[in-house]
Amino acid sequence: MVSYKELGLVNTREMFAKAIKGGYAIPAFNFNNMEQLQAIVKASVETKSPVILQVSKGARNYANQTLLRYMAEGAVQYAKELGCENPQIVLHLDHGDSFELCKSCVDLGFSSVMIDGSHLPYEENVALTKKVVEYAHQYDVTVEGELGVLAGVEDEVSAEHHTYTNPEEVIDFSTRTGCDSLAISIGTSHGAYKFKPEQCHVDPATGRLVPPPLAFDVLDAVMEKLPGFPIVLHGSSSVPQEYVDMINQYGGKLEAAIGIPEDELRKAAKSAVCKINIDSDSRLAMTAAIRKVFAEKPAEFDPRKYLGPARDEMEKLYKHKILNVLGSNDKL
Ligand SMILES: [Zn+2]
Repeated sequence: MVSYKELGLVNTREMFAKAIKGGYAIPAFNFNNMEQLQAIVKASVETKSPVILQVSKGARNYANQTLLRYMAEGAVQYAKELGCENPQIVLHLDHGDSFELCKSCVDLGFSSVMIDGSHLPYEENVALTKKVVEYAHQYDVTVEGELGVLAGVEDEVSAEHHTYTNPEEVIDFSTRTGCDSLAISIGTSHGAYKFKPEQCHVDPATGRLVPPPLAFDVLDAVMEKLPGFPIVLHGSSSVPQEYVDMINQYGGKLEAAIGIPEDELRKAAKSAVCKINIDSDSRLAMTAAIRKVFAEKPAEFDPRKYLGPARDEMEKLYKHKILNVLGSNDKL
């Protein structure tokens, strides 16, 4: 049993309270490799932003849960080395699917866990979330629950259709489970193909597809039921079209990859939404940069020569999100 406090990590409680009051959102970036983690830490230190490092099931399978935990411990030390005296870094389990998994992460030094019982019947979701909360709170680890189902595919979490969160259930759910934050479904979606072209309309100025708007009425109703309660948005990548174009230009084949417009996320960040999950955008930035090197320098075979530019591109992306979308800069 290791406490996250010994590792220099923090839970989400104070961070979320400040974010709601200040009208901004904390970035929750997924990581599964060193270059990505370096880019996240550098971007958050240089912009003076708190940050949530997320570990998904796919990441655990790819990189090993224990190794990722030690990397997060290293991230705290790296942030200090970069000149940040008091880093605010959360190590969060993304989409925990069982009590046992959440418990193992709490015991290993995670400072926050998500228990995703959104696919279960309501009463089972309540019971499972409550069980995780009771365990995690003994160690001051914060817990994110989920109500409503997001469409799309994110590492092994997948659903055909989304079901918006029912605002009538949120008071009952948060009271009975004791969860610290709640992920809701208002039309965001996992992955880089969030919408089918037939759901979108074409912007005559750019010729690009514009997705249907998020259900801000559902968010408003949730905030009315639970004033000041921390709300989380999953599946909130914007799928920057310049990366999609770059990938396709250098031999890739991404067709109709569509994300959530950044102005909608900006609007959400100013509300009780205090955690916004971004994963696909960093994958796109990394892939675009690597494809460019491969296309322009086919003789290159030192991985540092393409992972380095990929890291730079991800850092640029993370800074952009912090400064121009979430507004979490200058908070340390
Ligand atoms: Zn998610």
